[in-house]
Amino acid sequence: MKVLITGGAGFIGSHLAEACLANGDEVYIIDDLSTGTLDNIRHLQEDSRFANKFFVHFDTILHHDLMLELIGICDVVFHLAAAVGVLYILENPLESIKINIQGTEKVLELCNKFKKKALIASTSEVYGKHTHAPLVETDNIIYGPSSKFRWSYAASKLMDEFTALAYYRTHGLDVIITRLFNTVGPRQTGTYGMVIPRFVAQALNNQPLTVYGDGTQTRTFTYVKDVVQALMALVKAQDAVGQVLNVGGTEEITIFDLAQKIITATGSKSVIEFIPYDKAFGKDFEDMQRRVPGIEKIKKLIDFNPKTDIDEILKQVIDFTKQELQLV
Ligand code: UDP
Repeated sequence: MKVLITGGAGFIGSHLAEACLANGDEVYIIDDLSTGTLDNIRHLQEDSRFANKFFVHFDTILHHDLMLELIGICDVVFHLAAAVGVLYILENPLESIKINIQGTEKVLELCNKFKKKALIASTSEVYGKHTHAPLVETDNIIYGPSSKFRWSYAASKLMDEFTALAYYRTHGLDVIITRLFNTVGPRQTGTYGMVIPRFVAQALNNQPLTVYGDGTQTRTFTYVKDVVQALMALVKAQDAVGQVLNVGGTEEITIFDLAQKIITATGSKSVIEFIPYDKAFGKDFEDMQRRVPGIEKIKKLIDFNPKTDIDEILKQVIDFTKQELQLV
């Protein structure tokens, strides 16, 4: 199969590219390197097994002619390119809305032109401020006011979902919408806010671990390789077409407990420092207190069993970060 991965030099995109190549697929990626990096894919470019199977374009998904060519070539599109990370969204509000909305519209328009299947990566952010668990795909959505810019990310990704569903209903386009919960693993950067790479780097450097708020907020963390297997299985599951699906693990942990676990796992001398949200993000910020996916729907469609637990995930991230920091 020929696959196009938008955002293919990003954290999830690069793992997906690796898995597709291992699967024997011909892989095309497009990435504007806004948050993706050459380092994420260099090992694939240098691997002689993939010399005629891996094609890389550093460009924006808004580049019409290039996207026309790439979508024309490929059988399926994994659309992962987006502005991601709370810090990135807050620091680049306009660019984030533009790429998320216009970029997805471009992908869908061209997929429809060639009638190519599109898997659209959405996010658990779309649920907004709920505190109940689990979050299921039919839940109502609650956002804060538009003065709190975090919600622009949720709203833009929700608009992507509506657009994809509209293409499905209006043109019969094969679309699959995946709401990815906190996906973690090696190669994820902490630069744009993500908690695990930040805490692991802080712990390995014996710096304080910066817990925002009181640390009682919870998340579930899913290993990137489990997520990637699910995405690859979903494009083969005919009943997934036209559906919105949560993709995530169900092991819930507070951010405070996560910090403690990371200090223990790294043998660090670090302490935990509580940072008020307004100091971390400015005054117009709201966090999500809790975020646990219901995964019954995806389990009915594919054999989804995110088996990598938090201890194994942390081990993988710690080993990777030690190499990055040249501590081994
Ligand atoms: N967080 C934290 N310290 C950090 C980075 C993040 O306490 O240095 C918290 C953040 O406020 C949130 C959780 O960790 O409650 C997960 O943050 P992340 O940015 O990884 O993902 P998201 O907010 O999108 O779930």
